[in-house]
Amino acid sequence: MNRPVAIGIDLGGTNLRTAIVDLDGLIVARSDQPTLADRGFEAVIADIVASVDALIGGASVDRGSIAGVGLCTPGPLDLREGRIIHAANLPGWTNVPIRNALKERLHLPVALENDGNAAALGEYRAGAGRGNDPLVMLTLGTGVGAGVILNGRILHGHFDNAAELGHMIVVVNGLPCPCGQRGCLERYASADAVVRRVLDADQNRDRHGAVNLSRDREGAVYPSREGERADVPLRAEDVAQGAVAGDPLCRRVWDEACLYLAVACVNIQHAFNPAKIVLGGGMSLVGKPLLDGVRKFLRAQAWSLHDDVPAIELSSLGADAGLIGSAALVLDLR
Ligand SMILES: [Zn+2]
Repeated sequence: MNRPVAIGIDLGGTNLRTAIVDLDGLIVARSDQPTLADRGFEAVIADIVASVDALIGGASVDRGSIAGVGLCTPGPLDLREGRIIHAANLPGWTNVPIRNALKERLHLPVALENDGNAAALGEYRAGAGRGNDPLVMLTLGTGVGAGVILNGRILHGHFDNAAELGHMIVVVNGLPCPCGQRGCLERYASADAVVRRVLDADQNRDRHGAVNLSRDREGAVYPSREGERADVPLRAEDVAQGAVAGDPLCRRVWDEACLYLAVACVNIQHAFNPAKIVLGGGMSLVGKPLLDGVRKFLRAQAWSLHDDVPAIELSSLGADAGLIGSAALVLDLR
């Protein structure tokens, strides 16, 4: 195989994903494994190097055809020095020089990027955002990640912290956020926030609607339908399904999440004026109830001075957006 390819790496607190990506943005070979971040930096770096070597060997890729390695991870990052300044979901990872560590071991050019930015670049080059510039993407997961593509490039800002749209304040004096602000978007509209808000409100509720919540002896809460207990924790999808089925609590929390997302989209409309905003991350698996909710509230909130409301679409690359976007850091996808 001699066509140019790149290695994309998505390093999260839970999963380490590695892939060889071709010029069309297609994954040629991949490896998914648990990060096991508490083993420390050196052990994870060794896993990344082993995984890249195995992929290259397994796919019979000529090392000379590899344009480089792109790695995305949650920030904040020092992009100039190639360091992770602090990663909340990688315990003890403070000020680690990950770019140089990988460069020395892999003998390939290495680019580092924030995971939200990389996902936006992936969707822009090879996914739902193709042909849309500027493009804004919101990644709805544990928090709300985001990325802005402007003139074909990731918008970094003076301090490298542009597009931290999950920390856009949508409620003055609202819920406290670990970032130190109050009322951040991600406290209301991330997958975790939706679940947490239902469980918090459910403490005082004795009758359940379409989504029945059961507790085990340890106090963990589970969704159960038709009297059958499911052995999985409550997910944002369950809340959305409960809302569609008419459960009052689920409907209230879900509608609020969609409303705050719509408020964020109006603010994004005025800041960047994109033709499209792509919604990705675990919560986007909900699909139609998410799109319907955000679109409905967006139409109701948006101004009437000009018809420039962005289209709201779901990610088409799903969990691979960051992986493909990371490869795009070092390879010009077609
Ligand atoms: Zn915040």
